[in-house]
Amino acid sequence: MTAESPQPAPPTRSEQLLDRYEEALLGVFGRPQLVIERGEGCYIWDADGKRYLDLLAGIAVNALGHNHPELVAAVSKQVGEVAHISNFFTSGAQIELAERLLAIAGAPEGSRVFFTNSGTEALEGAVKLARRTGRTGIIASEGAFHGRSTGALALTAKPAYREPFEPLIPGVSHIPYGDADAVEDALAAGDISAVVLEPIQGEGGVIVPPDDYLTRVRELTHAARALLILDEVQTGIGRTGDWFAFQRSGIQPDAITIAKGLGGGIPVGALVTFGPEVSGLLQPGMHGSTFGGNPLASAAGLAVLSTIERDGLLRHTSEVGDGFAAAVLALSHPQIREVRGRGLLRGIALSSPIAPAVMGIARADGFIVNAVAPDAIRIAPPLIITAEQLASFTAALPGILDRAVNS
Ligand SMILES: *Cc1c(COP(=O)(O)O)cnc(C)c1O
Repeated sequence: MTAESPQPAPPTRSEQLLDRYEEALLGVFGRPQLVIERGEGCYIWDADGKRYLDLLAGIAVNALGHNHPELVAAVSKQVGEVAHISNFFTSGAQIELAERLLAIAGAPEGSRVFFTNSGTEALEGAVKLARRTGRTGIIASEGAFHGRSTGALALTAKPAYREPFEPLIPGVSHIPYGDADAVEDALAAGDISAVVLEPIQGEGGVIVPPDDYLTRVRELTHAARALLILDEVQTGIGRTGDWFAFQRSGIQPDAITIAKGLGGGIPVGALVTFGPEVSGLLQPGMHGSTFGGNPLASAAGLAVLSTIERDGLLRHTSEVGDGFAAAVLALSHPQIREVRGRGLLRGIALSSPIAPAVMGIARADGFIVNAVAPDAIRIAPPLIITAEQLASFTAALPGILDRAVNS
């Protein structure tokens, strides 16, 4: 506010709503950046009518963008028939979604699906699966994010998330990510039930491990008779250009966790157990959920999977993702150190810790991006995004970076 401004501007509709937010919502998220009123394709509009290109998709969730006709039709039809029935009962939609997930995961005979409402819950299922081996040790990674419930939090690495709630479940060790020798050493300690890994770390800053990492960890976990559980919550459902990121490596894990992109915005997650031996670890009565896999969530998941398939979105994701990464690098901007990731999960590593400023300036310019680390910007747009839409951000990026440096 400068001295000569005659009157403070009246609060906008967004500001009024955000003030009410802060008086009604628990403060764990801080003050939200925007109040969103509407979405269409890859765009969202705030409560003051300003339009943004959504390059974050609700954190890698809105695989089909906003208000996609297939998702709207499938969910509307299902809610008009039956939305929820509990797991005392099942539905054709639930069974079909489980079958489709097993097929796209390339899961062998005897594999099974457990449905959840979130990624965190899928990880909780994975922790219980691991416990059923009779061993208690779990190896996770530095930089890992697996959720915020107390079990999933024990696997999450970030001290700021963990420390207020310690002691967490015991037996979890965090070792350097991408380092198969570190896995070997940690397994040698014995009593390890499972190694839990993201195939590409998302919240950790979009970190891609070395090419042979998963292959080596698979060999090591086989030899140690420990489960290999891959957290595909962020990387799965086409985000990296394959149905699941692990498929690039050719290995077969013992279990995967899925959520974010699966429902296209409707909450649905899953734990997939590979083969009869692993699937047999959780017996009747050992786990459950009231909402998990209800007809509404299942219909949403089916609409997302069929649209990705019908519209060739896996190949599209690879193509536009590679094109975007190359175009950002070709800017040769002094602030751009590297572009990490695969498909449409990308991290732009910056030369200085200006990511929060970049996020704010991009938003003012009409682009939603995420400061995933102080020196890294994450891009995880809808899989339907066009090369032209991505190019509009690439064109704006040098100016955004220049202003962020000087801010
Ligand atoms: C987001 C995320 C989770 C947690 O999922 P929620 O749906 O927020 O519970 C777990 N693992 C990974 C890799 C994630 O990116």
